[in-house]
Amino acid sequence: MAKKDKNNDNNPLKQIIGHAKEYGFVYQSSEIYDGLQAVYDYGPYGNELKKNLKELWWQSMTRLNQNIVGIDASIFMHPLTWKASGHVDSFNDPMIDNKDSKKRYRADVLLEEKAAEYEKAGDNAKASALLQKMGQLLDAEDLEAVRQLIIDEGIVCPVSETANWTEVRQFNLMFSTQVGSVADDASEIYLRPETAQGIFVNFLNVQKTARMKIPFGIAQIGKAFRNEIVARQFIFRMREFEQMEMQFFVRPGDEMKWYEHWKESRMKWHKALGTPEEKLRFHDHDKLAHYANAAADIEFDFPFGFKEVEGIHSRTDFDLSQHQTLSKKKQQYFDTEINKNYVPYVVETSIGADRLFLMVLSNAYTEEMVGEGDKAKMRTFLKFNPVIAPVKAAILPLTKKDGLPEKGMEIFESLKYDFNLIYEEQQSIGKRYTRQDLIGTPFCIAVDHQTLEDNTVTVRHRDTTEQERIAIEDLHGFLSKACSLRNVFDKL
Ligand code: ATP
Repeated sequence: MAKKDKNNDNNPLKQIIGHAKEYGFVYQSSEIYDGLQAVYDYGPYGNELKKNLKELWWQSMTRLNQNIVGIDASIFMHPLTWKASGHVDSFNDPMIDNKDSKKRYRADVLLEEKAAEYEKAGDNAKASALLQKMGQLLDAEDLEAVRQLIIDEGIVCPVSETANWTEVRQFNLMFSTQVGSVADDASEIYLRPETAQGIFVNFLNVQKTARMKIPFGIAQIGKAFRNEIVARQFIFRMREFEQMEMQFFVRPGDEMKWYEHWKESRMKWHKALGTPEEKLRFHDHDKLAHYANAAADIEFDFPFGFKEVEGIHSRTDFDLSQHQTLSKKKQQYFDTEINKNYVPYVVETSIGADRLFLMVLSNAYTEEMVGEGDKAKMRTFLKFNPVIAPVKAAILPLTKKDGLPEKGMEIFESLKYDFNLIYEEQQSIGKRYTRQDLIGTPFCIAVDHQTLEDNTVTVRHRDTTEQERIAIEDLHGFLSKACSLRNVFDKL
């Protein structure tokens, strides 16, 4: 049973953070030094879960679509890349400091939170008027007026509770570092703030060497870095995180058709993984980024409300054209079907592996009352789809004698090449079941005295706690069927 921290009882996010730490999913980075803000490490089960999520995404992109191939580009890129993409000039957040608490906030987030308060109080008109005004001021880069709006709205720092605000300043989110031994401006390079640019600069390499014909896509999974000002909400917003991005290159004019296709396809993917429909929604952007002609987010109902988990963006030919201009290398494709040269348009799907992890974990976290009367108690378990569960099955001999451990190890050895398993013989079987529930293992395989007689085992199902007897020789087939990526793919 999960240890209960009284302070966490009514805060679902804190419960999940506590559970993630206690059961080996996510730890604060450098915790022994009191941690590093907005940077996290994945423990033994978290690491497995994240790897499974990445694998599922990767195979969904590259194996299910013959016209999508993958690459693995570097984190460091030529500095002009970020000039071309617009990140040097406009990858900014407006920040404001409270002079008393010395805490830093995103000015837009303070106003958005105020609007959310109005909405909660039922005053939707006031909320949207505030958001509209904020949008106009930010578009006009009138930062002094943004500050005044914060003051007029009576927004105070939650720590000092004062409105003693500095001016609003733009803050670039890119981390920079020095390449080589001489620290001058010319050697300053950035840690990539998105993986997409590694795909754009390799567009022609991939198109030519893999002989791709438009429409086609390039997928990539990799680290990205952003010096986020508001770094809260656990792994939702990190300074070092992983993105899974796919850029789909299309004929100019076809982009809206493909944008709709990828919107639907990605939503379907989330549902196929088992996320309930009512916890997912689209948010179409009214205000578009400088590179986009259409954009939507897929939002999930996190413990702190509906928030973006994935973005689908129609990026036009902005990135390739920019790279063409700055590199002075043509970024064109000759379309033999229409006998024309053009810079392709791009539709992108972009999801954070860590945000997806938080979504899957929040969705899986389940508390259920079992038993009745005095015997009633809470059962906590993680209801992961077996396809992504960190551990697929635990092999548990009922006792440590009579040859049961040997039989258990035999089963473990026969299955370990294909499935991530745990073998455990310490403690009572009930305690061992509970421990597997807490890390979300879908099946517990108990080896008992009957096993020695007829070569069958009991398989306990995590979600129902029901048990069934299965022949040892059928275990491989049983687990393969339950944990196959096909279970998700078939629903796409
Ligand atoms: P937000 O508005 O939440 O900052 P964004 O619109 O800047 O996100 P994109 O630039 O579109 O995000 O990045 C694509 C995806 O990368 C997001 O949908 C999210 O899943 C993930 N992502 C972006 N920033 C972070 C971060 N700081 N920590 C974890 N994941 C992130």
